[in-house]
Amino acid sequence: MGHMTSMTRGVSSAPQTETQNRRVLLAKPRGYCAGVDRAVQAVELALEKHGAPVYVRKQIVHNVHVVKTLEERGAIFVDETEEVPEGSLIVFSAHGVAPVVHDEAKRLSLRTIDATCPLVTKVHKEAVRFAADDYDILLIGHEGHEEVIGTTGEAPEHIHLVDGPGDVDKVNVRDPEKVAWLSQTTLSVDETIATVDALRGRFPKLLDPPSDDICYATQNRQTAVKEIAEQAQLVIVVGSTNSSNSVRLVEVAKDHGADAAYLVDYAEHIDPAWLDGVRTVGVTSGASVPEELVKGVLDRLAEHGFDHVDEVESVKESMRFALPHELRRL
Ligand code: SF4
Repeated sequence: MGHMTSMTRGVSSAPQTETQNRRVLLAKPRGYCAGVDRAVQAVELALEKHGAPVYVRKQIVHNVHVVKTLEERGAIFVDETEEVPEGSLIVFSAHGVAPVVHDEAKRLSLRTIDATCPLVTKVHKEAVRFAADDYDILLIGHEGHEEVIGTTGEAPEHIHLVDGPGDVDKVNVRDPEKVAWLSQTTLSVDETIATVDALRGRFPKLLDPPSDDICYATQNRQTAVKEIAEQAQLVIVVGSTNSSNSVRLVEVAKDHGADAAYLVDYAEHIDPAWLDGVRTVGVTSGASVPEELVKGVLDRLAEHGFDHVDEVESVKESMRFALPHELRRL
């Protein structure tokens, strides 16, 4: 078991008998990863140095609150580069973009800040390298996710999407001897292992990526939620529904002992009925979630008698990334 730190929060207003011995297990690490921190700072600094409006292609990170807060400060979120007036400043989101998006930005004379997470860029480079060696690339990921669209754009002729173990039998490759796999950075570690095993069953010569594609932050948050889920009846994950790593945390919690697990954007979304008969609640948050939202959830839980919080640290984390170099030019 990881290192535990205790704290007691506000006074409960719920009836005594029901609320005795109620506690929260708070996962650590949780919340912001280095890639999200860098991307959000990139937009904030662009607004500060350049002034509004700053355009952002897609949600900078998949969190409702972060997007709303940046919008209030003058960021304008667009779906496609063509929506941006010529010559404007545009930030590309942490999930990465296909090369055609860079071309389009050039055509429109846009000034760009690329906030693609370096760990996504690493997967793009792996795709380019395998494609240059003429491999068929099996990209494990979720159909329609922005990161998958961006990575696929690096080598559309070579990449086949494998959306979980159910897709393994459907894959068609040119040469079964010349196949490699890559993955989205925010998948379930366990499910991806199962998918790769099934792929290797079909393609024994399958090449692995040079290093893990599922990023450190995704892996660490899953490790941490497993530890608290084993001891909690209920797990609350703070995060947005389009956040892949947050949704995975809910699944992992259910697979590792929690009777129930729910995703909430805000404390107000907690249904008090979820807490009936519960003594231990696990709390964690996705990699795109600011800590203030977790604080809100802890305050709400304290009102229901969960005023004792044990923080369980499963993995030490200290990753930082340098800011996008284009910011220096502003
Ligand atoms: S979740 Fe991982 S890949 Fe995505 S931004 Fe964070 S560190 Fe980068």
